[in-house]
Amino acid sequence: MEKFLYLDNAATTATKPEVVEAMLPYFTEKYGNPSSVYRFSSQSKEAINNARKIIADSLNTEAANIYFTAGGSESDNWALKETARAYANKGKHIITTKIEHHAILHTGEFLQKEGFDVTYINVDENGIIKLDDLRNAIRPDTILISVMFANNEIGSIQPIKEIGELAKQNGILFHTDAVQAYGQLPIDVEEMNIDMLSASGHKLGGPKGIGFLYIRKGIKILNLIHGGGQERSRRAGTENVPGIVGFGKAVEIAIATMNERIEKETKTRDYLIDKVLKEIPFTRLNGHRTNRLPNNINFSFQFIEGESMLIMLDMAGICASSGSACTSGSLDPSHVLLAIGLPHEIAHGSLRITINEEHTIEDMDYVIEKLKSIVERLRSMSPLYEDYMRKNS
Ligand SMILES: *Cc1c(COP(=O)(O)O)cnc(C)c1O
Repeated sequence: MEKFLYLDNAATTATKPEVVEAMLPYFTEKYGNPSSVYRFSSQSKEAINNARKIIADSLNTEAANIYFTAGGSESDNWALKETARAYANKGKHIITTKIEHHAILHTGEFLQKEGFDVTYINVDENGIIKLDDLRNAIRPDTILISVMFANNEIGSIQPIKEIGELAKQNGILFHTDAVQAYGQLPIDVEEMNIDMLSASGHKLGGPKGIGFLYIRKGIKILNLIHGGGQERSRRAGTENVPGIVGFGKAVEIAIATMNERIEKETKTRDYLIDKVLKEIPFTRLNGHRTNRLPNNINFSFQFIEGESMLIMLDMAGICASSGSACTSGSLDPSHVLLAIGLPHEIAHGSLRITINEEHTIEDMDYVIEKLKSIVERLRSMSPLYEDYMRKNS
């Protein structure tokens, strides 16, 4: 059989068979509307409560603080827009970073049009914010800080606990987009002083179209969808029961297997990183060498177009990405790679590989073999490479 390697787990993951199995009865036999009064519907209601409890426990919070949404983007939009509007009488300044997902960046731009002032702080060459930059950006009218837990392109992990502390000391709300980190890294919203947190089912083996926003008790936030009393009236609409059940199951599995997954993926990741850096010249690793998601690898290959590389990898049965899925297809280099200081031409030659716990060293050897020949082939066709080699030989 032809080789097939799905190495784009930051874009989405396969829904785990156990998750699908847990969901199925809620499409067929147990289809009652959770808001109805008869006993037939109470099983839907219980299934939602159960998932909410699993998720709350995973973050060290109460089930009442978990609000189901239709995904990470929705949670990010809700957190930013509806706390900004609720606290506008206190101040109109928001701080975020230059490397956020577009669900945060574009919401920030929208809020600027509504009259809010948004500061986008920089990151260092490894894609990590400097706490001093954050401290210096804080003003008397700052109402909200939003910093992602871990980056979706280069995997860099932010100093979340320190950011939470800083926000708390200054009486500012702290939101984190934890879509990439949730289920991959331990998170404790109490210990880390996180006031709001966004997560999504399909990035951790759950279904697409389901997410949640954790909202600390006592925070003012406007309702996202007006209608029925679902999600304590804050996000109306009949619940996505199968999606919620599947998300709960995926979280249960992710938490139970977290430590062994971190260990295995880190080994596989480091094997690929070390070997590629050693065997392919003019290559750099983007993101921090160790303080990064266990499943994330991001390289830049000089003298190469990332898009051509993706097409050739695809022909070898390898699915990877050249940046975030949303920017593929456009010719702008990734805002994250530019923020860590890469020149345009280097940013264009970048490749993101995101593995899962099932990938093996043999899989990585296959990737390295293919990468070597693809990079060699593309460079042999590059006038820039030819020019460089002539001048430097
Ligand atoms: C995927 C992703 C999102 C968007 O989540 P959806 O559920 O696809 O809307 C937001 N933030 C980050 C960091 C992501 O990786």
